[in-house]
Formats: sequence, C-alpha cells, structure tokens
Amino acid sequence: MTNIQLHDTATRTKRPLEPLVTNGHPTMYVCGPTVYDRAHIGNARPVIVFDVLFRLLRHVYGADQVTYVRNFTDVDDKINARAAAEKRPIRELTEETTKWYLDDMAAVGALVPDAMPRATDWIEEMVEMIVALIERNHAYEAEGHVLFRVRSCPGYGDLSGRSVDDMIAGARVEVAPFKEDPMDFVLWKPSDEQTPGWNSPWGRGRPGWHIECSAMAAGLLGERFDIHGGGNDLVFPHHENEIAQSRCMGHQFARLWMHNEMLQVEGKKMAKSLGNFFTLRDILDGNWIGGWKVPGEVIRFVFLSTHYRRPMDWTEDKAREAEAALRKWYAMAETAVDGSWRDADISPLVNALSDDLNTHEALASLHRFAAKGDVAALAAGLELLGLMTDRVPNWARKAVPSEEVTDLVNALLGARATARAARDFARADSLRDSLAEAGIVIKDTSEGVDWHIGPGFDHDKLEALK
Ligand code: AMP
Ligand code: ZN
Repeated sequence: MTNIQLHDTATRTKRPLEPLVTNGHPTMYVCGPTVYDRAHIGNARPVIVFDVLFRLLRHVYGADQVTYVRNFTDVDDKINARAAAEKRPIRELTEETTKWYLDDMAAVGALVPDAMPRATDWIEEMVEMIVALIERNHAYEAEGHVLFRVRSCPGYGDLSGRSVDDMIAGARVEVAPFKEDPMDFVLWKPSDEQTPGWNSPWGRGRPGWHIECSAMAAGLLGERFDIHGGGNDLVFPHHENEIAQSRCMGHQFARLWMHNEMLQVEGKKMAKSLGNFFTLRDILDGNWIGGWKVPGEVIRFVFLSTHYRRPMDWTEDKAREAEAALRKWYAMAETAVDGSWRDADISPLVNALSDDLNTHEALASLHRFAAKGDVAALAAGLELLGLMTDRVPNWARKAVPSEEVTDLVNALLGARATARAARDFARADSLRDSLAEAGIVIKDTSEGVDWHIGPGFDHDKLEALK
C-alpha cells in the first residue's frame, strides 16, 4: 500500500496516515461554508485541496472505502442579517446559496462528499451534547446562554500551540458580564421572536458555531475519525473549540489536522475596497479582468500549482500559463481516450501526492509523462488530479466543426446576410452577437465571411439559435 504522509497541525510533523486508519477505511471531516453569499475564490481553496486528498485516498484505499463529510453552516448571525436586509425567508437564502456553492465547486472539479449535513438538521444532537457538557461541569448556563468553561479543559490551546493566557492577549474575545472567564465561548444563545430558534432546556435559542461540527462529526463519523481539515483561519478559535467540546465529551475526535494557507489576488489580500475581490462564479463567467471566462480546469490547475501549506496568489498570468499547459496536454490526452489508459503506471504522481499532497510535484510528473509521450499516463494523471473525466473538456477539444455545426452556422450567417441586404442592421448585428456569444469567431473579408470555432465554444448556445 502507498504510504501517505500528511502534515499534522497538532503535532507540527509529517505523519504516516496508515496507522491511524481503522480497517482500511479512512474518514475525513472538512468545515464547509456559511451559506449566505456566493463563494469567493479563496473559499475554493479548501474545497480543491481536500478534494485532491479525497481523490488520493479513494485511489489508494478504494473509492467505496473513504468517507468524506463536509457541512453547511445554515444557522448564523450573518445569515440572519442578510435575510433581513434582503427581506427574504432565511431558508430560501440558505438553499439558494447552497445550490450556488455546489454548482461552483463542481465547476472546478470537486467531487461531492459522501455526506453534507446542514447544521439545522442536527440541533437535537447539539442540545444533547450541550446537556452532557453541563453535566460534566465543562459548561454552564448564564442568562439564557450556555458557555463552555475553557479553563476546565486540559490541553486547550495545544492545536494552535498557545497558552490560554496568550490567546486572551492576542484574540478579540467577546467580553460579556455573564461569562465566568473572557475565554469562555458560546454553545447556545437565546433567540428573540424575529430570529430562528429551537426549544431547549435553556429556553428558545440557537447553537453557537463550534458545537455544530462536534455534533455532526460524532453523528456521522463517530467519536474518533482520521482527518479533520479546513483553512488555517479556522485553527483558532473554531478548531480549538471543536476539540475542547469533543474531548470533554470523552471523544478522541480527529487524529490528524490539516490546514490550508490563505489565497490572495495579484499579490494583495482580497478586499472589496481594493477591487480585487472575486467570487468563483465571477471568474467562471468572465466578470473580471478582460471578461475572460476561465474554465474550471484552468482555475483548478492554478490552485494545484501551489502547495496547500503555502500562501497562494491568484493572478491572471498564472491562469494564462495554466490554460496553455492544459491545452497542450488535452490535445495529447484526447488521442488516448479509449479507457485503456486507466491501467497506466502513474506511481511518480501518486508518490508526489502521498508526500503531504505535493501537487506542484504532481503537475511536474504530468509534464514528464507528456515529454516522454506517455499519453496513457498523462490521461490517467489528469483524471486523478480531477482535471479530466472520461474525455477532455469541451473547451479544449479539437476545434473541428461537425457537419451539424457547419450547417447551422452557415444558415445563421445566411440569415445575417439577408438581414443586411434588407438593411435590417439590428437583426444582422444581433445574429452576429449571438454567434459570438456561442463562441463562433466571425471575420468579414473581401471574399465573404470566414468563421471558426473559438475557445469559448458552447454547443448548447448555438443550438438555441436554431
Ligand atoms: P467561511 O464561509 O468564511 O467560513 O469560509 C469557508 C472556508 O473557506 C474556510 O475553510 C476558510 O478557511 C476558507 N477560506 C476563507 N477565505 C480564504 C482565503 N482567502 N484563502 C483560502 N481559504 C479561505
Ligand atoms: Zn467546523
């Protein structure tokens, strides 16, 4: 069996995964999004990083042996505020945003996790856990709130490697008169009439953020599981608090912790005020620099070119380079697509991923397969990295128009010529725009009209013009 080594945030060492995995069945939990808005491009980083890990585990242990859980936080004050501002029901907002998230992440090649629990379906389990924590003296009720008693928890701060006192000094902790200690954090808080709430032993209220992951991980993966992941902005307080809650329940909880570094854009932290804030959808749909609709595979390639534990910079230059590399590879891989390539030897690539997800080195092995003309390994490697499915993506397929496309484009160009002759320029221009929109590049020459299939070709849009 391939020996997978992963960097563990808790021990600050690279550790072999195998002894942790019970019965050849690896389990992982990754903190998912709070659903009230489109995912920004930084939010795609944990999704892609842990998707690569998921694919590696499936490759090594067998596709049906791995369990991957990623939650949706659908109860949160930011959600309440957004729904109130837009005068919309909360459930409508969270469901719409959840759908957007899944569509956007599918576009960058992320497989669907085995379970995607949403917090509001797990309130009962959270209440049970809070009751148990109170019984164990790790939590207390105060003015309709329930707070976790941080000083009661041995090892609090171990994940981030800081003492409780250092954390108090460094963190913006909410000071409230009803807290025994400023570090204590909320497990449950009261809801007024306008705010979503559930009945509990402490009155109508809603859970704090951290308890949801402790409850859902225990419910879906058990008291002990192998890998817990998320962005490194979650180490403190979110993951530190998840550990505190679960360990004080007597659960072993996650045995290895992985965190991705942050993403920035063109060398700067992403911020709406700097004009460098993009959602993943903006980039896919061309609502950014130059109107370029960046294919999901190109976005994914850019992410893979930086190791997940390093800060990553999203730049237009990188995306252009990624597109060029992928076009070259897809043109080669297209010739191999008969299924036999699934048996190709891609061990150098698997070994690179097994070394703490060295995706940069994995891409280098694709370069070497391509240089050697090993088309089968190239196709298999592209597939393992989530850059290709049964065939290369449409945007990269050889641009030879089918007879059907040729006939359709010629018919539409004929209609455009007729409109022009009748001096109906509005219609002529609109036909031209629709063809351009479908990715047909048109050149008017002295000999007539020249056209070819452009990089943004979209067969469905062309069909719709019939
Ligand atoms: P949120 O919805 O803000 O809780 O974030 C969802 C996930 O995206 C978390 O795992 C965050 O750590 C991660 N994340 C947020 N911003 C960035 C960023 N700029 N770069 C990388 N990951 C991020
Ligand atoms: Zn979490």
